[in-house]
Amino acid sequence: MNSLSLILHLAGKRTGPFLAALGLSLVTLAAGIALLGVSGWFLTGAALTTAGLAFNLFGPSAMVRGLSLMRIVARYGEKLVGHDATLKLLADLRGWLFRRLVPRVPFQGRLFRRGDLVSRLTADVDALDTVFLTAIGPILTALAAGLAMTSLLAVLLPDAAPIYALGFGCASLALPIALALASQRPGEAATLASAELRMRVLDAIDGHADLRAMGQTESAFRAFSASGRRLTRARTRQSALNALGTAGVQAMGGVTLVGILWQGLEALDTGAVNGPVLVGLLLATLASFEAASLLARGAGRLGAALAAGRRVQALAASEPTILDPARPSALPEGSSVHFEAVRFGHTPDRLVLRDLSLQVRDGERVAIIGPSGCGKSTILHLLLRLSDPEAGAIRVAGQDIRTVTQANLHRRVALLSQDTPVFLGTIRDNLRIGCPDADDDALWGALRAARLDGFVRGLPEELDTWLGEAGRTLSAGQTRRLCLARVLLSGARIVALDEPTSGLDRETEADFLADLAAATRGRTVLLATHASLPDGAVDRVLRVENGRLSPQ
Ligand code: ADP
Ligand code: MG
Repeated sequence: MNSLSLILHLAGKRTGPFLAALGLSLVTLAAGIALLGVSGWFLTGAALTTAGLAFNLFGPSAMVRGLSLMRIVARYGEKLVGHDATLKLLADLRGWLFRRLVPRVPFQGRLFRRGDLVSRLTADVDALDTVFLTAIGPILTALAAGLAMTSLLAVLLPDAAPIYALGFGCASLALPIALALASQRPGEAATLASAELRMRVLDAIDGHADLRAMGQTESAFRAFSASGRRLTRARTRQSALNALGTAGVQAMGGVTLVGILWQGLEALDTGAVNGPVLVGLLLATLASFEAASLLARGAGRLGAALAAGRRVQALAASEPTILDPARPSALPEGSSVHFEAVRFGHTPDRLVLRDLSLQVRDGERVAIIGPSGCGKSTILHLLLRLSDPEAGAIRVAGQDIRTVTQANLHRRVALLSQDTPVFLGTIRDNLRIGCPDADDDALWGALRAARLDGFVRGLPEELDTWLGEAGRTLSAGQTRRLCLARVLLSGARIVALDEPTSGLDRETEADFLADLAAATRGRTVLLATHASLPDGAVDRVLRVENGRLSPQ
């Protein structure tokens, strides 16, 4: 689905408000044109009245008041309805994208940097508002205004109609198209530069301590400034184009006006039109060009919106490789794990696992060890079906995991990944990710099992303690224990722990592993680690060698 059809599809669900906004913007423009037209007619008529000609002042003056009120109310309504519908549409789009992204994250995470993902979901989605607020609406409004004015002129001042049609056509068709084309490059450059700026900010915040320790803050700052300059250059070009567009519309409006005046004066001579009507037509012409200048403004932003649309689309384009079966089987009770001749490589040219077999009984605790890069994390990820093997099968409780729904599988198997995050929120929020409706007793039980209860009880706000971004207020050991507690809370009968002690000092590591047996009692455990294991931590130790597992 390309970005335009995606947007139209989502917009289709909000047709009512968009049509209402369009109707109101037509009323606004029509009232504006009529207002200037009637005012011109009225003022000229009034001036001629004082010169001794008869003119009824009451009708036009009531019309002026009525039209100006109508214009104000319609414009207010249009902004309210149009922005409301657009913002809701963007929210729909963001929700749609987010939901689509979730099954793809293991894959997308490699294609897109974090800051880039953030840009795509925020700034790029926001940039699409242009499509509604300053492109589709104004195009239709300008079309209606142009047709109405041309028809009016054709009746009242026929010779001026082609001049108007040509002038207005140039201003509302040729000029915006030229602007939209010219704005593509600076628009794309601005979109990319602002995404890059965001990535650099996130990188600099994440790597702040390292950058300082290595004396690299200056070079990070230079890179940041360079991105900033690129953004400024692109934005300057965009503004120049916009200014050129506005000036162009005004110039065309002026030329058209002169053309109509020329034809009008001739008609006035022959008596084909009277003075007040001519002035009214002239002012109405000027007012109708407002629609063209709106369009020019929108066209200047279209380049950026299209670039943003392409980026949003690229994010959503890939199909998830892991799909639920059409007719899922039930997952039988039990917590055994079988790998049968599993072959897997992240890339086609390099196998990580070759005919790997593994049998873990209900409640057995098995450690998987081996040097880094040998495939330990890969084994655990396959067990959670984050990828599917090329050959062989993986069974949980005897059932091939490809035949059950992922939701079911993930209720049975929980993963403590190598870089499990602590989320912005309280300790309670963080634990409840494992089990959204766990009560306090369950939370304390999980904390006790992870041996973090003493620490949490010592905090003034206990479970309601705010952890801050990425759990800044916790030590590395406490972070891992909190994440373990979250996994234990999940109630999954099988837990896969990927380097649960990475980042811990020796002593904390030994404590953690010693507590693990008690914490995971009754569950099947697959523990990937390269730590040396204390006695009794696991039942069996297997080593990954050449893509296979062999007993230690
Ligand atoms: P371990 O957990 O034992 O350190 P991994 O399972 O993470 O090892 O990785 C096994 C091998 O697969 C490594 O050689 C690694 O480079 C490669 N690998 C891991 N993840 C990816 C990936 N997403 N894309 C390509 N190669 C990968
Ligand atoms: Mg690993």
